[in-house]
Amino acid sequence: MSGVVIIGAGHAGSQLAVSLRAEGYAGAVTLIDASDALPYHKPPLSKTFLKDPAALPQPLRAASAYKAAGVTRLTGTVTAIDTAAQTVTLHGAALDYDHLVLATGARNRMLPDLAGAANVHSLRDLADAERLRAALADAAHVVVIGGGFIGLESAAALAAMGKTVTVLESAPRVLARVAAPETSARVEATLAGLGVTIRTGFSAGGFTRQGDRIHAVQGAQDTVPCDLLLVGIGAQADTALARAAGIACNQGILTDSHLATSAPHVWAIGDVAETPHWQADAPLRVESVQNATDQARHLARHLAGAAPAAFCTVPWFWSDIGPLKLQIAGLALGADRRVLRDDGARLAVFHLAGDRLVSVETLNSPADHMIARQLLDAGLTPPDAFMQDGAPAMKAWLAQA
Ligand SMILES: Cc1cc2nc3c(=O)[nH]c(=O)nc-3n(C[C@H](O)[C@H](O)[C@H](O)COP(=O)(O)OP(=O)(O)OC[C@H]3O[C@@H](n4cnc5c(N)ncnc54)[C@H](O)[C@@H]3O)c2cc1C
Repeated sequence: MSGVVIIGAGHAGSQLAVSLRAEGYAGAVTLIDASDALPYHKPPLSKTFLKDPAALPQPLRAASAYKAAGVTRLTGTVTAIDTAAQTVTLHGAALDYDHLVLATGARNRMLPDLAGAANVHSLRDLADAERLRAALADAAHVVVIGGGFIGLESAAALAAMGKTVTVLESAPRVLARVAAPETSARVEATLAGLGVTIRTGFSAGGFTRQGDRIHAVQGAQDTVPCDLLLVGIGAQADTALARAAGIACNQGILTDSHLATSAPHVWAIGDVAETPHWQADAPLRVESVQNATDQARHLARHLAGAAPAAFCTVPWFWSDIGPLKLQIAGLALGADRRVLRDDGARLAVFHLAGDRLVSVETLNSPADHMIARQLLDAGLTPPDAFMQDGAPAMKAWLAQA
């Protein structure tokens, strides 16, 4: 078949397949995924999808878009890569490639003690979401383990469905790895207002089982009963195929700044790729829709003939937690100072490393988020007073900077 073979039809793989043709790539494009579902948006799975029993997956693009771009979609799990022969194995047969793109995403972490329990769930793909949604009919008290994005989005959705929801987080605050204390506090207060119980500093010490079901989570002081457990403790890159093929991996598949892996003609994009980042000293794995689609578009341009260029964009991310829209632009790595703008309804947290703006978190303040992206893109930092005054002031400052 040759041409470009893409393993994984998630946000990254699907975007790459159509962008290749849009950029003028003339060869064959083959998009392979383990699931036969038309590639779909993942973010709604922990937000709107759970709440509406009739909700359907939202396709990333219509089936006709792949057809129009001449993309061959194949279903099945790729089981091996031979980088010397330039083939992958699908259903026991070898498939040739000129270029191979690994867009295999990530898999959820699971607590080993919970393996095999019938009422334990996690959320990564459509099958997980459908299984969870079906099980919710018989669950009154849901315990969410993990106060990260997916856990908190789901907790808000479940509370809106009338479930009694308890979030157990081992850190002293939710979103501790990814957000400022002010953001965490506002998120915790909002969830509490929705009726969600948040237990921070809670280390799950064990689980009470009856048959194949978990009935309670044991903490240091007490136990928390549950009908259903949702585990949201993060994900790890799906590197198994690459490792078995001898491709260099760390937490993810290592790439250079052009998204090339250690094997000739093999590339990695999206959640699975660990890539040099202009804001960090070491390669990073970034889990976001924007990173996946921007890396796909970047690689498409190169495979279609553009000169190689370093992938370098301002990362941004969003999360909908009940009534809160959390948006983050840039990376807060190395930040040592924060400037706040808080009018009660909206919050903006500006992270600075020395005098340099490196990241901005906002809650229900899209205008601040948009201007923050422009500032980060331009490498500009307004005086504190402009950040405290909000988007119009920063816009005016940027116009004359
Ligand atoms: C519930 C949920 C909510 C999210 N919400 C947000 C949000 O609000 N905002 C945001 O920015 N990001 C969000 N994300 C993260 C975002 O969805 C990911 O960053 C994005 O999906 C990454 O795209 P990807 O293509 O790299 O991986 P994926 O979309 O995970 O796709 C990987 C694909 O590879 C396939 N695959 C793996 N191995 C093989 C194999 N051997 N053979 C064939 N196929 C294979 C898998 O089946 C899968 O379809 C969310 C993620 C989840 C799970």
